[in-house]
Amino acid sequence: MKRTQQKWFSIGTIVLFLLFLWGGSYPLAASSNTNEAKLRAELERIKQEQARAKVMTQQLTQKLSQNKSTQKKLNQEIQYLDMKMNETEQSMKRLQSDIDETEKKAQQAAADLDAAEARVEERNRLLRERVKALYVHGKTSYLEVVLTSKDFTDFLSRLDMMGKIVAHDQDLLEKNKQDQALIAAKKQEIDQYLADLKQKYAELERKKQEFASMHKERRVQIASLQSQAVDYEKEIEKYDEQLSQLVKEYNRINQELAKVYWTGGVLAWPLPTQYTTISSPFGPRVHPITKKQSFHSGIDLPAPDGTTIYAAESGKVILAEYYGGYGNTVIIDHGAGMSTLYGHIRPGGIKVKAGQVVERGQKIAEVGTTGLSTGNHLHFSVLKNGDYVNPMNYLGKK
Ligand SMILES: [Zn+2]
Repeated sequence: MKRTQQKWFSIGTIVLFLLFLWGGSYPLAASSNTNEAKLRAELERIKQEQARAKVMTQQLTQKLSQNKSTQKKLNQEIQYLDMKMNETEQSMKRLQSDIDETEKKAQQAAADLDAAEARVEERNRLLRERVKALYVHGKTSYLEVVLTSKDFTDFLSRLDMMGKIVAHDQDLLEKNKQDQALIAAKKQEIDQYLADLKQKYAELERKKQEFASMHKERRVQIASLQSQAVDYEKEIEKYDEQLSQLVKEYNRINQELAKVYWTGGVLAWPLPTQYTTISSPFGPRVHPITKKQSFHSGIDLPAPDGTTIYAAESGKVILAEYYGGYGNTVIIDHGAGMSTLYGHIRPGGIKVKAGQVVERGQKIAEVGTTGLSTGNHLHFSVLKNGDYVNPMNYLGKK
C-alpha cells in the first residue's frame, strides 16, 4: 500500500514537473481576468457611447434652440406684418371714402359741365335764331327801317339798336363759354384728383397683397420649423432614453464587477470529505530527478475517476473548457480578486458553463486525468489577484 502511494507520488511529481515546465508561460492570470477585462472594455464602450449621445443631444438642443429663436423672429415679423396690413387696410378705407366723395364731386362736375354746355348750346341757338330772324325779316325790316326811317340819323339809330341786340347776345354767349371753360377746368381738376386717389388705392392694394404673401410665407416657414422641432425633440428623447439605458447597463456591469462572493472566509473542500490526501503540495521544490527548482501551482488530491468536484466558494464560472496542461478545467471567479482552478477533469466531466454563477459546494465537475496527468486526481489552485497562492492557507484543515 505504501509502495503504491510512493509510486503514484513519483509519477505525479514527473507529471507536475512537466506541467510546470510547460505551464510556466501559460497566461493563466490573464485568462482568469478575461471576464473582468471584457466587462471593463464594455464599460469603456458604454462611456464612449454616452459621450457620443451627449454630443448628439447637445447638437440637437442647439439646433432646437436656433429653430425656436427663428420661429420667434418669424412670429415677430408676422405681428409686424399684421400691424402693417391693418394700417394699410385703414388707409384704404380712408382713401375709399375720399374716392367716393370725389366721385360724387366728379359726377356733379360732369353734370355742371353738361349744363354749361347746354347753356352755351342754347345761347348759340338763340343767337343763331336772332340773326336768322334779323336776316329773314331783315330785307323787309331792313328796307322798312330804311324806308320808314324819318331820316338818316333815325336810320342809323335803328341800325345801331339792332346791332346792340346782337352784340348783347354775343356777349352772353361769350360769358357762357367762359363759364363752360371754368367748369370744364374744375372738372378736369377733380378727375385728376380722383385718378390720383385711385392710383394710391391701387398701390395700397398691391402693398396689402405683398404683406399678405410675406405673411403667408412666414406661416409656411413656421409650420415647417415646428415639424422640424418635433423631430428634434423626438431625437433628443431617443438619445435621453439611450443615455438612461446606458446608465443602467453601466451600473449593472459595475455591480457585476464589484460582486464579491468570497469575503475572506474558509474555502469549502473541493472533493467529498473522504478524499483528503495531498499527493503533491503547493510550492517550490527541488525536483527529485532533475534536481532543478520547480513550482507546483496548487495541490493534487487523488480520487477515483468520476468523483464529484465541488465549487470551493460561490462565484462566476469564467472558464469551463480544455485548458492546456490542466486538461479539462473550470475556473471560478469569486470576486475580491479571488479565483479557484480545477484541473484534469474527466472527458465530459465539466458540468458548468462559462458565465454561469455557481453556489459554494455545488457540483461543478468530475475527477479525471485529462491533460498532463497520469493518474486520476484533482489539481486545485487558488489565485489571489492573479497570483497562485497556497490553497492550504484558504482551505479548512482536513
Ligand atoms: Zn497539480
